[in-house]
Amino acid sequence: MTSTVKTTDRIPVKEALCEESIGKKVKICGWVRTRRDSKAGFSFIELNDGSSFNSIQVVAPKELDNYESEILNAGIGSSLEILGEVVESPGKGQATEVKADSVKVLGFADPKEYPLQKKGTSFEFLRTIGHLRPRTNTFGAVARVRNEICRAIHEFFQSRGFVYVHTPIITGSDCEGAGQMFKVTTFDLDDVPRKEKSNEIDFEQDFFGRQTNLTVSGQLEAEIYATALSNVYTFGPTFRAENSNTSRHLSEFWMIEPEMAFCDLEGDMDVAEAFLKHIFSSVLKNCPDDMNFFNQRIDKTVIETLTAIVESDFHRLSYTEAIEILEKSGESFEFPVKWGIDLQSEHERYLTEKKFKKPVIVYDYPREIKAFYMRLNEDGKTVRAMDVLVPKVGEIIGGSQREERLDVLKERMIDCDLNPEEYWWYLDLRRYGTVPHAGFGLGLERTVQFVTGMANIRDVIPFPRAPKTADF
Ligand code: ATP
Ligand code: MN
Repeated sequence: MTSTVKTTDRIPVKEALCEESIGKKVKICGWVRTRRDSKAGFSFIELNDGSSFNSIQVVAPKELDNYESEILNAGIGSSLEILGEVVESPGKGQATEVKADSVKVLGFADPKEYPLQKKGTSFEFLRTIGHLRPRTNTFGAVARVRNEICRAIHEFFQSRGFVYVHTPIITGSDCEGAGQMFKVTTFDLDDVPRKEKSNEIDFEQDFFGRQTNLTVSGQLEAEIYATALSNVYTFGPTFRAENSNTSRHLSEFWMIEPEMAFCDLEGDMDVAEAFLKHIFSSVLKNCPDDMNFFNQRIDKTVIETLTAIVESDFHRLSYTEAIEILEKSGESFEFPVKWGIDLQSEHERYLTEKKFKKPVIVYDYPREIKAFYMRLNEDGKTVRAMDVLVPKVGEIIGGSQREERLDVLKERMIDCDLNPEEYWWYLDLRRYGTVPHAGFGLGLERTVQFVTGMANIRDVIPFPRAPKTADF
């Protein structure tokens, strides 16, 4: 078999799908999604390499040397290398197809054993084959949209002069107040050294000479850099050892935390709103095929919802106003509403889905339910916190203006049973050239969930970590 292909370089299927490729001799590679053999002596192979949602149709004529021996045995899941010409496709729904001059089977997949058959692949089942699920339409689309979101996040901050700061994953601050932590140790768990007198665990003998954990947030460290470089952001993994088996919680998730010096709560809300709009409009613009799929097959409202958000202003209201609205709503909530409660998911969803039908920013929360570092308001009862709530997901961003007054911060720490001495470096930031500053945290997976309409957070991260779940 003689090939007239000049290009030795593989091009992505995405490129072969473009009309501009018509007439070109190309090499493409990928995995078989389906194969159909016609009586007229052709096989039609849908080939996908993950570069785009759509597969390309490869037409393999029976004249090929290995037609009977190999091509007719290359079923779903097999990997192929094709040399051929991109031609206009007579079929509907695709501009191009590839007329194969040669089809090389790189690896067969036994169709009787291959776990990803066309039908019967629920998301629950796919979680048990985390090594193969990225080959499905849904998980390929999730991976590409997640990638686009990350790209847009960096673009947003980089184009505004924010410096990307890497905060540590192993941290020595024991209680940042954001949730339970995973311990990091090299102790032999069968023989943990203890102090002689008190019988307490002797962490001085541990690897770091002190107790260490996996981080729950990079915020405090980001504040260090913000009080030197003005505008910074972190983007990294964070860990929560909470036993929450919900569709919105993971034990390991990625968080983006901008921190801005010389910025108050209004500025913080402005950045949060512009940031979300930038992410959503980037995905709508750059992932049209993937988004059409989510809109057709996962949630028929995602495109409409994202478009509306990009075009409208978020509704901002204080916690106190939110409580009044909830009290007057006439809804029967599972958790009763009264001033001082932490808003539950049902309350958040009422505000954003029913009352305002758009993203909502709630600010000035009671001090008792928020972290020590949030700036105390003049009323002495509330702090300059803000949460951005979106339909279905609820809280997607949590942020605040930070307490920059040394004396007030110390008092708040003591109130919250924290030892100011352990936070000596955090307090130094207020001791030496303190400035008003603010920031927020966006959960990456909640964002991917919201954008794609995927119901379970375990399906928007490649390898989910959750209670009793750490396979793959
Ligand atoms: P929630 O009340 O939903 O548990 P939180 O108040 O614990 O959230 P923060 O500590 O403010 O959340 O974290 C900042 C952001 O990180 C949240 O707005 C959310 O988007 C995300 N997030 C928090 N916990 C998780 C988790 N367990 N899994 C995935 N994302 C999370
Ligand atoms: Mn939480």
